[in-house]
Amino acid sequence: MPQQSGDTLQRAIQQLDPAQSDYALRCVEEILSAARRCGATDVHLQPTAASLEAKFRIDGVLLPVADLPAPAAANVVARLKVLAGLLTYHTDRPQEGRVRLPQDEIEMRVCTYPTLHGERVVVRLFAGAGRYKYFDDLGLPADAFGPLKRLLGETSGAILVSGPAGSGKTTTVYACLREIARASGGSRSIISIEDPVEAAVEGAAQSQVRPTAGLDLAAGLRFLMRQDPEVIMVGEIRDRATAEEALRASLTGHLVLSTFHAGSAAETVGRLSDMGIEPYVLRSGVLAIMNQRLLRRLCTCAEPSERPEDLLGLDVARARVPRGCEKCGGTGYRGRLLLAEMLPLTDGDLARAVLDRRDTKIIERMANDSGMIDRWGRARRAVEEGLTSPAEVRRVLGFSEKH
Ligand SMILES: [Zn+2]
Repeated sequence: MPQQSGDTLQRAIQQLDPAQSDYALRCVEEILSAARRCGATDVHLQPTAASLEAKFRIDGVLLPVADLPAPAAANVVARLKVLAGLLTYHTDRPQEGRVRLPQDEIEMRVCTYPTLHGERVVVRLFAGAGRYKYFDDLGLPADAFGPLKRLLGETSGAILVSGPAGSGKTTTVYACLREIARASGGSRSIISIEDPVEAAVEGAAQSQVRPTAGLDLAAGLRFLMRQDPEVIMVGEIRDRATAEEALRASLTGHLVLSTFHAGSAAETVGRLSDMGIEPYVLRSGVLAIMNQRLLRRLCTCAEPSERPEDLLGLDVARARVPRGCEKCGGTGYRGRLLLAEMLPLTDGDLARAVLDRRDTKIIERMANDSGMIDRWGRARRAVEEGLTSPAEVRRVLGFSEKH
């Protein structure tokens, strides 16, 4: 309930006395506990000429929640820097640190950035609102759930989860690791290299990159291979070196899971190819590519709309639009919905298209012809079922593609 949480936070802060020496400390406590209460994934503190604006990102959307008095801004920011082990006297350079408060399990990353009116801070709450889920709770559609669950039992090959930033890729990969650990009863050796480790997964040996020690994802992967792994999780494939190491592992008897930044499953193939990964490596190494998006779910207060302009050009027969009530804090949305498209690369024609370096659009069309329901198909279905609104689909998927 974002609006209520914002009001409560603003009130709580107003009750604090700026003259007290623990003012900044108490402000930070109030902000972080409010953020946890309403399941925010990020806290933004933006200094302006007049105040320090606090905003929360909830369900992917940034909402203003409180204004702190300008004279206190530097102390509030300094308090967060102390928590994150950053150097408070450096205010002219970006810094990054991590916090884990003793009273909770939530790990946070604090990033500062110097701006015109002082340091801006973004706090990422890694496990806010139970974001770390089990495989069965991800909300995958049946035609992705079954095949993906089966692939988690494979002993070699790569499963790539792609999507833009904030689409829940890491949550999915962690849920897959938990499922592998559960299903094998601890009998499979699961090792990860991540940047950073966002949550602990029971049954997996997780490690984090240390760039200053020369341990990046690709180097980490090479060391990890000597740890007798069976299942390998690579936080994200961002460059050719990591892609090559990950796919080499997938071709030599390891199940590899990783995330990749791409707009669609077919685009993932194209971008890996552009990175210099040979088509035959993709063809033999990659078992499946999933692409996903998170859309806000309409609250029960949503109402049906007959107006063509509410459909925003989507090819749907009917839709519901957000209204806003007390339960959803006036936003019209509550919770999120996972849209997933699953591209299996084991299909004969598709595999050949990958080998022939066919264009992304052609691969997507072939995948759709062979039964893949792409993100647009899922989105249209979700709109017609009244789960989300056309406006939310456009917010997340954009207007650039015709649908
Ligand atoms: Zn509502």
